[in-house]
Amino acid sequence: MFQRELARALHLSRRGAYRDATDALELSLVAADSVRERARALILIAHNLPRQGDLPAALRRASEAVAMVRLIDGPDQDEWTAEALTELCYVYAQFQMGRDAMQAGWQGLAAARRAQDPAREAWALNRLAVAFAVTDQVEQACQHTLQALEIAQQQAAGERELLLSCLNNLAHFWLQAHAEAIRDEDRRSAAEALAQAEPYAVRAADLVREEGNPFLVVVSLSNLVELQLGTGAIDDALLIADEYERLAQRHGYAGMVLQARAQRALLQLKRDDCAGATDALPALATLQDLVSQQAPQQLPTRLRRQLALAIYRACKLRGDTARALAAHELLSSLERQTARSAMALQTEAMLIRQEFEQAQARAEHALQDARRERERAELAEQEQQRLRREAAELGRMAHEDALTGLNNRRHAEFALPLLLERARQEHKPIALGLLDIDHFKQVNDAFGHGVGDQALQKVAQVLRRQLRSADLLARVGGEEFMLVFVGVPAERGQEICERLRGAIANHLWGELVPGLRVTVSIGLAAGEPPAKAAMLVETADQALYAAKHAGRNRVQVMGV
Ligand code: GH3
Ligand code: MG
Ligand code: MG
Repeated sequence: MFQRELARALHLSRRGAYRDATDALELSLVAADSVRERARALILIAHNLPRQGDLPAALRRASEAVAMVRLIDGPDQDEWTAEALTELCYVYAQFQMGRDAMQAGWQGLAAARRAQDPAREAWALNRLAVAFAVTDQVEQACQHTLQALEIAQQQAAGERELLLSCLNNLAHFWLQAHAEAIRDEDRRSAAEALAQAEPYAVRAADLVREEGNPFLVVVSLSNLVELQLGTGAIDDALLIADEYERLAQRHGYAGMVLQARAQRALLQLKRDDCAGATDALPALATLQDLVSQQAPQQLPTRLRRQLALAIYRACKLRGDTARALAAHELLSSLERQTARSAMALQTEAMLIRQEFEQAQARAEHALQDARRERERAELAEQEQQRLRREAAELGRMAHEDALTGLNNRRHAEFALPLLLERARQEHKPIALGLLDIDHFKQVNDAFGHGVGDQALQKVAQVLRRQLRSADLLARVGGEEFMLVFVGVPAERGQEICERLRGAIANHLWGELVPGLRVTVSIGLAAGEPPAKAAMLVETADQALYAAKHAGRNRVQVMGV
């Protein structure tokens, strides 16, 4: 969805259908599901909106794009930052906010250079130049555009839009300087500015005709007409004005249609002037009409001023003082209006920026809160896990003998009644053995306590290997172990105990320490489960005593 709408938008943009392109981009923005996709859509929307004349929306989108690219984490961050700031620079420049435009432009350029990306660097230079032009630094503007142009010329054919933009901007900057010189009646500067503008305007117009984007064609041709208006190539200019007016009409660039009409009227007026015509001129009437009738937002104030000035001059030339005076008054009112509307626009931009920064701050706070909340939750989770681990550890320790890893006496006391109960319920016999190492004191005395410990561990290991996991095996005293078998009758119990005794007696104890021998005596109580566990233990204890008495290393069975 995102890719499809994006591709559609790019196609539409290339054909100059900016409004439809923006609609497609808004759809792709909704469909975007990564920071980069959102940034891509926002940057392109911010790029299109000024061409539709919606500067406030453009400023919002460009600001959002700048905020969005800050979230990009990766080696491509500089490229994105460069693009977003370059758009922001351009939008501020359109607001005539030179200082803000300049700041965004410089930062964008720095990011593009860090990214070592020539195309982005050229765009940044191009937009920074526009910021210079807004602050009336035409020379700087031209210089930066020339740098951009140089890079654009080294680029592949894909950067044609950049190339055209550079050429058009250069032509435009000089034409602006020309218009200003005319206003100041500085003929020399005017001629010089015109000579500077000419090659760019001509080259852009040549190049643009191969271009499929009608908007760029219209812009380039209007620059060319402006140039010809200065140089006096009136007939050519009239044809070109017709050409681009038709194009603008077809694609709905209302402002450019008006501009074409105005330029044509200016051209006609110039031709009349050159021919020395002094009668009531239709061109003058058209100009009057354009200046006074049209909705001011459709005809740029810059152009209206140009028209009013032309009317003033024409009327003065013809001695029509009343209309000259009216035109002059209109001119000063337009100048005031320009200042006022620039201020209104800038105020709006400032409000948008404030509103945006507040929203940003709120979002940032929400993000931080969420992050803190998550951290708290993570900590709590970790703490809980730790407690669970600790509890499990404690539980294990409570039931486990540290030396041998067998169950301890506490566990045996806990488990024995349960086993007894089960045997009773299932009507099964039960057998309980008490196993005691023979003369263990002597083992300690002869080989040391350490060897004694190792012998205990080994005994535990041998026993565990011999028994099923369902059987209970616990170390209940220093060298004393308890065994419980549910469902095992006396004879079978005796067999098991004999096996255990044999396994211990036959173990190669000499491997642990030469000369070591270990045997065990076992007293086994077996039969139907008695009422109390204590009865089993006592009987087993008596049997053990009997085994010891009978000479140790043996099994003694007693019924319960
Ligand atoms: P008997 O055949 O009559 O059982 O003789 P015995 O020496 O084994 O009997 P007694 O009960 O007199 O001695 C038990 C010895 O077991 C005393 C003690 O030093 C030793 N012992 C008990 N717990 C440990 C232990 O954890 N480690 C070591 N190394 N020795 C232990
Ligand atoms: Mg003992
Ligand atoms: Mg003993």
